[in-house]
Amino acid sequence: MAKHEEMNPFKLAQAQFDQVAEQMGLEPAVREMLRWPLREFRFQLPVRMDDGSIKVFFGFRVQHNDARGPAKGGIRFAANETLDTVRALATWMTWKCAVADIPLGGGKGGVVVDPSMLSTGEKERLCREWIDAIWKNLGPRNDVPAPDVGTTPQMMGWMMDEYSKLRGEYVPGVITGKPVGGGGSLGRTAATGFGVVVTVREAMKHLGIKSVGRTASIQGFGNVAQYAARTFIEMLGGRVICVSCWDRDDRTSYTFSKEEGVDPYFLQSITDQYGTVDKEKAQKAGYVIEDGDVWLTKDVDVLIPAAVEGVITGDNVQQISKQVKILAEGANGPTLLEADKVLKERGIFVIPDFLCNAGGVTCSYFEQVQNDMNYYWPEEEVLAKLDQKMASAFKAVLAMAREKHLYMRDAAYWVAIASVERAMRLRGWL
Ligand code: NAD
Repeated sequence: MAKHEEMNPFKLAQAQFDQVAEQMGLEPAVREMLRWPLREFRFQLPVRMDDGSIKVFFGFRVQHNDARGPAKGGIRFAANETLDTVRALATWMTWKCAVADIPLGGGKGGVVVDPSMLSTGEKERLCREWIDAIWKNLGPRNDVPAPDVGTTPQMMGWMMDEYSKLRGEYVPGVITGKPVGGGGSLGRTAATGFGVVVTVREAMKHLGIKSVGRTASIQGFGNVAQYAARTFIEMLGGRVICVSCWDRDDRTSYTFSKEEGVDPYFLQSITDQYGTVDKEKAQKAGYVIEDGDVWLTKDVDVLIPAAVEGVITGDNVQQISKQVKILAEGANGPTLLEADKVLKERGIFVIPDFLCNAGGVTCSYFEQVQNDMNYYWPEEEVLAKLDQKMASAFKAVLAMAREKHLYMRDAAYWVAIASVERAMRLRGWL
């Protein structure tokens, strides 16, 4: 694949799929169906701004596949949102739900907007307009959105309310990631980072590594990274020696290191809502502040990219220390194809993104189940169920990797694609 195509996320999603479809000898009709989304919606969103003018935004919803259950996936509000990004993310959601073995398909939505430029009222009107435009194609049995980049639990609350008004009944299960007390589930904030570490624990068991005292280096200090750091320390008895994050004022990234181990609770207390750590306060507390890319080069047992996509490239992959045994992809798409080849050759055990970070969508599924029952579980129960789901997803992928002598990423694709193909055949689509 040419370099510019690697940068197009949908081309990347299709290339990853094609590679495994070829290995599996997938029938051409199945291949054609799964390379493309089942349905795509693009719509206009006229919103009254605070100054009285009307501004027209563009929105998308893509349902990649719903053979295994209702489409599921977040809504992104981003200035650079494109249909291809939404298509790619919807495709990855299909594989993620299938590999996590939750009865849902893949979807994704978006709006081309920088939400930081909107007032609270404008955001609410945009959220309600998004639902007005697409509500007939959504629903707990059709397609269930959730928050993603640029959207928040509060926005999900407004969207759920708008949908319920249109339907004339309370329908909390139409959307997940709602605030706790407004139909949300306990444990959702911790879920993705917690799930990342469950897969690391299972990988360590498989590799015969004792977890106590093992070290990790994490990129990012937002939602996923914060809870991955806490769980790595509390569940595994490990030490996180650094986290790296983007500094919005300096428009660059920094790594915050402490050889004896960072204190995630202290770092959380000096981190803003966008995941930027306060440099001055960290320095005063004895943290060493280094270049943002240094996290990748640390002598640690586990690397956890949990920030953004495309950070491990053909150019920097060789900088990964020989000590690293596990790469746990907390972020979506952190590793480019060229780097992936090198990781394979070096025998680094990769826990692929759509397995590693499936804790979030699994907890969203639990939220929907609780909404359906109108009965809510305590946090310990949610996390215990999540632990069990993540561990069994990991084991299924590992079993496939062993049986067919596959790289973990290919094995995860194989498990997911086979599961979706089976559902399509059982429903008589093929
Ligand atoms: P977030 O916005 O809460 O945090 C992102 C973090 O990454 C911030 O600390 C930010 O400073 C940092 N960052 C951004 N650019 C960086 C750079 N160039 N170098 C270093 N750090 C950088 O986001 P999040 O919810 O934690 O999501 C992180 C990743 O995990 C994304 O890829 C997201 O798609 C994926 N993911 C998130 C969830 C979830 O439940 N939140 C679920 C599945 C996957």
